[in-house]
Amino acid sequence: MDEALPYAELGSGWASLRVQKQKVWHMDTAACGRTSHAVRARVAEHLAQEAEEGGYVAEASIAPVFTNARARLGALLGFAAEDVAFTESASTAFVQLLASWPVEKGDTVWAPRSDWGPSLAALVDRGLRVELLDVDSRGALDIEALETRLRHGRPALLHMTAALSHRAVLQPITECLMACSSREVPVILDVAQAAGQFALPEGAAAVYGTGRKFLCGPRGVGYLAVSKAWQPGLHPRAPALAVEAWPGEDRSVRRLESREAFVAGRAGLAVALEEFHQRGPDRIRTRLDAIGRAGRRVLGNVPGWSAADPVDAPGAIISLQADSADADLAAVRADLLRQKVICSVTGTERAPHHMTRTLLRFSPHIDVTLDDLGYVADCLKIASR
Ligand SMILES: *Cc1c(COP(=O)(O)O)cnc(C)c1O
Repeated sequence: MDEALPYAELGSGWASLRVQKQKVWHMDTAACGRTSHAVRARVAEHLAQEAEEGGYVAEASIAPVFTNARARLGALLGFAAEDVAFTESASTAFVQLLASWPVEKGDTVWAPRSDWGPSLAALVDRGLRVELLDVDSRGALDIEALETRLRHGRPALLHMTAALSHRAVLQPITECLMACSSREVPVILDVAQAAGQFALPEGAAAVYGTGRKFLCGPRGVGYLAVSKAWQPGLHPRAPALAVEAWPGEDRSVRRLESREAFVAGRAGLAVALEEFHQRGPDRIRTRLDAIGRAGRRVLGNVPGWSAADPVDAPGAIISLQADSADADLAAVRADLLRQKVICSVTGTERAPHHMTRTLLRFSPHIDVTLDDLGYVADCLKIASR
């Protein structure tokens, strides 16, 4: 039986801010959300201002916009405005963070076995020794195993992908932070998928992510936030330049911010964050959860497919596994695209130590309705023939 989705007017309001769905069923927020008209207008407006006044004067003239965006972002991430820096993407944020984090080559880092593959690779590139932590069958960190391990050893840091990109899994973040704080192990969280989808607790040493997924900012703007305790210990690559750029901030996280950047995109993200805030992050999360549940039920019932996660798993990611191990998921996706349904194929490189099968991933935002999900299920039946 169909449950009605909560906050229908929130969903239709969200839709009215954007290009009308017309004949495209965008179910790919986890790759890249749909920006609003106002976000794109703000980007264009700032580009025009740059053309008139030059980039640096234009940037300085809207400094309060960025302060406000840092505060909004910080509120979602569990940090204060002054702890937040803008980057270009989640990946660049993590590389900048690692390059300046006080660790030595050869130091040990812990990460759940289900962690995002490119982040594990970045840790190895930094010369760190990655030890994988036990997870359950769904990829959720085993807290008891972590606590046992912490009694015998202590890594230089623990990295964790707060919400997985290929499945509806939210890590036990609070429990992990508690276990690690008792041993003074800093926790760095990848919140690329979690930001906007889930409430995040305070207490991480650092977090990083991107604005373009569930926050629906423009592409090309990421962020990181570092706790006050860890900011003075960062060793940025180009300190002299940064100090000159921000007098008096010579110990802050903003030393990691790229000076040359897609500033118009940051202004656009500021608008997206304002829209998110005005509509209520809690209500948005509640509706995303409900859409995820409905989607797993509806799409997981299409013959030949099953939902990779239980129906009541958290968040809006709906991952399907083909019954047949040699199904060509790329061909199914391409067929769906011909029917104007946009989704992703998530390969095992996303979690190379945990995933064994490629999955078909749908990730709607709150503008999606039960009718849309039913329509997409019909398209999937056609695509799977
Ligand atoms: C998308 C994603 C990233 C990478 O983000 P970019 O902005 O593309 O660098 C990292 N981790 C997770 C979990 C993601 O989903």
